[in-house]
Amino acid sequence: MNYLVAVIGAGPAGLYAAQYLARQGVQVVLFNRDIKPGGLAEYGIFPDKHKMRTGLMAQFKRIIRMPSVRYLGNVTVGQSGQIKFDQLRRAGFQAIMVTTGAQENNWLGLPGEDLDGVYHANDIVFQYNQLPERVDQQFDFGNEIAVIGVGNVMLDIVHYLKRDQHPGEMTAYARRGPGAVKFDTQTLEPVAGCLDLTAIKSAVDEAAPTLKSVGEDATDFFLMLAEAREKSQDCASGMTFRMRFLRSPRRLIGDEIGRVRAIEFEINELVQKDGFILARGTGQYETVSADTIIFSIGSQVDPGLGLPVAQGNYLTSPEPRFPIDGISYEVYNPDLCVNCDDIFVCGWARLASEGIVGLARKDAERGARAILDYLETLMSKPQTEIEDALGRLPEIDKRMVDLPDLEILWALENKIALEKGLPEFKFSSNEAMLEAIEKESIRKY
Ligand SMILES: Cc1cc2nc3c(=O)[nH]c(=O)nc-3n(C[C@H](O)[C@H](O)[C@H](O)COP(=O)(O)OP(=O)(O)OC[C@H]3O[C@@H](n4cnc5c(N)ncnc54)[C@H](O)[C@@H]3O)c2cc1C
Repeated sequence: MNYLVAVIGAGPAGLYAAQYLARQGVQVVLFNRDIKPGGLAEYGIFPDKHKMRTGLMAQFKRIIRMPSVRYLGNVTVGQSGQIKFDQLRRAGFQAIMVTTGAQENNWLGLPGEDLDGVYHANDIVFQYNQLPERVDQQFDFGNEIAVIGVGNVMLDIVHYLKRDQHPGEMTAYARRGPGAVKFDTQTLEPVAGCLDLTAIKSAVDEAAPTLKSVGEDATDFFLMLAEAREKSQDCASGMTFRMRFLRSPRRLIGDEIGRVRAIEFEINELVQKDGFILARGTGQYETVSADTIIFSIGSQVDPGLGLPVAQGNYLTSPEPRFPIDGISYEVYNPDLCVNCDDIFVCGWARLASEGIVGLARKDAERGARAILDYLETLMSKPQTEIEDALGRLPEIDKRMVDLPDLEILWALENKIALEKGLPEFKFSSNEAMLEAIEKESIRKY
């Protein structure tokens, strides 16, 4: 096989898809908007998880150094980018794998979301992880913080605030019961010492009749809290961390200078439908005070890419030609009711905010198998080599970053980290990264 595939996005999904395809003899060009590869493994995973981040980065480096993989960073593909899908086709790429993730904020559209003190978890994560385009955001955290959502990202936010901001109280709100929390013990551990177990117990007791109505109990939830608590240290910051259940936010209430001061919740009941437990508003409301509100309710894909979007994901075909394990990886155009033949999608671009890196890898490998099945149906064996295809792409007015540039950047960041005695050092702007690469290239040659 001598096929040529463009993978758009070099987060975990793009990298593992590239590895899978390259191992099958396909030539792959990885186009990445960020200068550095890794996606949310670089700019999402909590900075203190050094072992995990270093382990992943070592794997990613091996993939980018594979002979049939070519990395091009600092270039955006899609309708609003520098390279369009049609230009990739014309250049000789036979298939396109979209792995651009889901990094756009999801909002509920509630009154008051524009008040001061109302933030999205993504923005905070990208700021503390130094994602170049989002590092300059300013936050003014108060003392009484409400977080909407009960997943791992919520816990990362609680961890960050405890470590760096020392608020007095943080309360996470779930629209369903404790059985619906989506975090794991390991992520809970760093903040488990701050849990206000008495308050959480009374929140669960309050929800108990509703939980009982759908056959749910909180035994596993309390076991998880106890396990994390056992492994955790005392809460040195003095912060208390609570959780409340069966509450959906309906309105954010501000003061005369436009700062959020309270949040109105509708209290939910739980109903069973098609095997799922769903929250349904009861028409009863409760207002609680909060001077900071953080929405941690997942993300959505970028509509600027130019592919059809539904419910925060790029739309996949309901009738895929190459399903893998019953899953469709083929981008679908609902207006024309046709599959976009050569465009495939996987990772968080296919299912926004779904799962951790291991799941993105599985999805990427299945998506790559779908592409291989598609490539086998192509009649003529293509002759395009990577260099020829890249030569046919339009000139772009940005400096793209390739593997030799990355090697320089990685070495420099490691050197600075060592000099400063830090576990990790990151340049926090694209300009700083490009300048460092240029300077080092001139010095070397
Ligand atoms: C706050 C947070 C904490 C997390 N913590 C953990 C954890 O501890 N452990 C764990 O296993 N998982 C964790 N995850 C989940 C993990 O990060 C995701 O599962 C994984 O990153 C999804 O991979 P992806 O490749 O689909 O998307 P992403 O990682 O988002 O990668 C998308 C890539 O596409 C690029 N891109 C976007 N648009 C374009 C474009 N138009 N053209 C070219 N390139 C483009 C981006 O630059 C990026 O490199 C966390 C996620 C978040 C948000």
